[in-house]
Amino acid sequence: MNDTTILRKLQGPLRGQALLPQVYGSASDSAVDPVGAQLARQLQGPLRGQALLPQVQGSDSDRAVDPVGAQLAGEDVGKHAPDPKRTPVGARLAREGSTASPDLLAELQCHGVRWQGADGLARKGGAGPSDHKALSLGEHTAMVPMLNRASLDSPYSAVPDSSGAQALIFREGLQVGQVQLPGVPKFYGLNTEDGIPYWKIATLHSKDVLATTVLQHCIRMNEAATSCQFCAIGQSLASGKTIARKRPAQLAQVAKAAVELDGVKHMVMTTGTPQTSDRGAAILCESAAAVTAVVDLPIQAQCEPPDDDAWFQRLKDSGVVSLGMHLEAVTDAVRQRIMPGKAEVPLERYFTAFDAAVKVFGRGQVSTYILAGLGDSEDAIAQMSERLASVGVYPFVVPFVPIDGTPLARHPKPDSALMQRLYPRIGASLRKHGLHSDNINAGCAKCGACSALKHHE
Ligand code: SF4
Repeated sequence: MNDTTILRKLQGPLRGQALLPQVYGSASDSAVDPVGAQLARQLQGPLRGQALLPQVQGSDSDRAVDPVGAQLAGEDVGKHAPDPKRTPVGARLAREGSTASPDLLAELQCHGVRWQGADGLARKGGAGPSDHKALSLGEHTAMVPMLNRASLDSPYSAVPDSSGAQALIFREGLQVGQVQLPGVPKFYGLNTEDGIPYWKIATLHSKDVLATTVLQHCIRMNEAATSCQFCAIGQSLASGKTIARKRPAQLAQVAKAAVELDGVKHMVMTTGTPQTSDRGAAILCESAAAVTAVVDLPIQAQCEPPDDDAWFQRLKDSGVVSLGMHLEAVTDAVRQRIMPGKAEVPLERYFTAFDAAVKVFGRGQVSTYILAGLGDSEDAIAQMSERLASVGVYPFVVPFVPIDGTPLARHPKPDSALMQRLYPRIGASLRKHGLHSDNINAGCAKCGACSALKHHE
């Protein structure tokens, strides 16, 4: 790489003359802005022809200013060095310098990002993928892991500006993008009459989705022999970030405020699985009925297949417009290993439930989460996605995120090359069977922020 190329790459950050010295500081600003000073040092690295990686990942002398980098420096740095052959998109992004494309969001989603600022608006713990922050590139928003340990070895880092509205993304010290961060929603500032903050009842996902876990408890969660190993449903409850049971009236109050104050467009209602044979469908019905009685908000409900398919019509009659029943893993071996309790519900029961639900909600209004990276092969996921799409079920394939505090916290992150191969195959199935996220009324597959699948439909 010659100096001209390096300088061209640096023009991204340096072009922000007004931005860089003020927001990111310079080497002489270290007393005022240690992170900025660190960045300024990193940016000077290539000009001096020095290797960037050790600086980005920290050194012993950086411990005071950058504990994350220091932690990495204390580990096996070689293990964190990215392999361009395994991450062709990452290698291209690094080669091309500053860019803004959905490819970058897909890359960040697989690798995670080392966040170099305060936590701010983020989702830690809870059901489903977590330890995320929402990042937007133009109209595209992605939930990107950055609060978990697994993200510490990402080649990507994000540095927010002083307003917290934007962040620069660096790969090994070179700027490869600039992203926007959704602001804190206004409804987060409200409390119920008995003093419960609205954000403990429902949270903003991506930029316009309201999400809640109606019951923050699951029959499977406390036993290693039954729990889903990727799930952190108990963690946000234990840390006081949510309440165990969201009452219908509370949900209605929060949903109305989120629509009126923040323009929320749709709502996801998920639940831990209770001891009842309806698998949570009954509490989803009463919750959806309460919300739709006070505000016009499309709702996706998410639960395990209930004992009786009549629940699908009851859910619809309560105001639910889309339904998610999540496979998570697609082969019996992986299901048994990762989610032994849920695996007792056979795949074939999911398919009879999908058929019955599609009859009620319509083709494309029923979806299922599939976590790539847990051990299912690329072919197994692609073939299952084709089967699902053929019966009108949207296969929402997302890269698995290792969440801190779960048994899979140290599980390898999904290979971004695998995801880059998978997305087009699933996209082809979606097109073949006439499914598209834009046509979904509400829910995760419509939101799409936990996956890059939307860009391949
Ligand atoms: S895809 Fe689902 S879980 Fe992910 S941000 Fe959107 S609503 Fe939340």
